[in-house]
Amino acid sequence: MSDGITCLLFDLDGTLYLESNGYVKHCRTRGCEYLSKKFGWTMAEAEEKRKLALKTSNQTVKGLRTLGYELDDKEFVSYMRDGVEQFLKPNRELGEFLSSLKQKKYVFTNTREVEAEKALKCLGIRDHFEKVYGADFMGDSCKPETRSFNAVVEDVGTTCEECCMVEDSIKNVIAAKQLGMRTIFVRGRDPEQGFTDESGETLEVIDCACDALTIGNLEKGAPFLWK
Ligand SMILES: [Mg+2]
Repeated sequence: MSDGITCLLFDLDGTLYLESNGYVKHCRTRGCEYLSKKFGWTMAEAEEKRKLALKTSNQTVKGLRTLGYELDDKEFVSYMRDGVEQFLKPNRELGEFLSSLKQKKYVFTNTREVEAEKALKCLGIRDHFEKVYGADFMGDSCKPETRSFNAVVEDVGTTCEECCMVEDSIKNVIAAKQLGMRTIFVRGRDPEQGFTDESGETLEVIDCACDALTIGNLEKGAPFLWK
C-alpha cells in the first residue's frame, strides 16, 4: 500500500449512512422517550438533557453519567436504536466504494458494538470490515478522547500515521488529525456534530470533505485512498 495508509477507520452514524435519512432523529426521539419515562422529565426536558449530555461527553450515556444521571447503558442504547431496519437499507454505491479500497477497514463508533453490527447488516456492508470497535471496547472512554483512538490503533496493531479516520463529527476529526491520522470529513450538516460552514480552523484538520462516501465524491479529493 503506497502513501502509507494501510488502515481505514470509519465512524458509523452520519458517516456510513447520512444523518438526513431520519435514523439519527428517530434514535434521539426514542432516547428522549426513555429518559422521560426513567427520570420523570417532560420530552422537552429530556431533549435538553440529552443534548447537554452529548455536548459534555460526545456520547449520551457517558454524558448523562457525568451530569449525575445513572442509567443502564445496554437497556438505554437498545431502546434508543430500536427500529434500525426501517431506516437503513443496502447501499450499492457505498458497497462499491468500500470494495474499491484495498486497505483493512474497521468501524470505530461511540455506540455499542451489538447495535453497530445490526446497522452494518441493514446497510449490507458488514463483510467489508475486519472488526467493530465501539462503546464496550472503549469502556469509560469514547471519541474524541485520545486514549480511545490509541486503544483502537494498538488493538489493530498499526500506528496513527498509517490510519485515515472517516468521520462526520468535527471534534473527532480534530482529535484524529492531532494524533497524525489522515482525515475525511462527511458533511452531515448536523449541528450537534459540530457542522459549521468551513472555517479556516476546520479546513486545516480536514484532508478531504465530501457529502457522502462514493468513489465519485472522493477520487479527486482523497486519491491517497487508491494509490
Ligand atoms: Mg458520527
